[in-house]
Amino acid sequence: MVRVAVYSLSSCEGCISVIATTLHRFLNELRSFVDFEYFKIVLEPPLEAEALYVDIAFVEGVPATEEDKRALQLIRERSAKLVSLGTCASTGGLGYSSSRYIRAGGASIEALEPLSTYVKVDYALTGCPANPEEFAQTLLLLAKGFNPRPSDYSVCFDCPLKGRACFLNKGVVCLGPVAMGGCGAPCPQLNIPCHGCRGPALEADFDSFFKILEAKGLKHELAEDMLRKFMGKFAIEVKVK
Ligand code: SF4
Ligand code: SF4
Ligand code: SF4
Repeated sequence: MVRVAVYSLSSCEGCISVIATTLHRFLNELRSFVDFEYFKIVLEPPLEAEALYVDIAFVEGVPATEEDKRALQLIRERSAKLVSLGTCASTGGLGYSSSRYIRAGGASIEALEPLSTYVKVDYALTGCPANPEEFAQTLLLLAKGFNPRPSDYSVCFDCPLKGRACFLNKGVVCLGPVAMGGCGAPCPQLNIPCHGCRGPALEADFDSFFKILEAKGLKHELAEDMLRKFMGKFAIEVKVK
């Protein structure tokens, strides 16, 4: 049996909540070869007991405290594979940006970072919250010895509004061109622009994106605020000044 643990550092616990409440849909496929040794919310041992020796660890949230950082190191040492679970864990997400703004205002809180700043991450399962079906697929692939691969296309690829009805053509900022696809573009389908909750697309071209915005007379500032929400480290350090 493949031993699995699902941990949570500082977070809203939205990813593990969604997965814990929907995992029963996938248990038939998983239960013959996967043992959940630990699952935050479902099982709550004290911190020292959290870092078991497992084959696959999923870790949600960001290491915001010294206790979190110690736990993360221990989890890494004791897990053959480590998956960052959700956008916070993978890019630093909202905490990455907001902690820097609050610090810039003079507060002495720590600047938050994604897991990969502290430890090797074998796979980033993004999403806010992470998608339970993708969680089960990732688990299945890793348990069978395969490497999961992130979507190699942007949200626009899936979007039913491609073409004339596109938000960008209607004067509304939408991050679809630079956001990682694979979600099926539910937000544009509900008439909501994409906010990039799965982080940046693999080859996101932010320069071209801003040129498109300029050509359409759309404001950079709004796009930058939207990018900072979920793309954390990647948007801010790489492209958004
Ligand atoms: S990725 Fe979203 S749902 Fe998951 S812990 Fe972060 S804020 Fe919560
Ligand atoms: S995701 Fe947004 S930018 Fe992309 S096609 Fe759809 S509406 Fe247009
Ligand atoms: S359309 Fe954009 S904001 Fe909506 S789920 Fe997909 S990546 Fe997230």
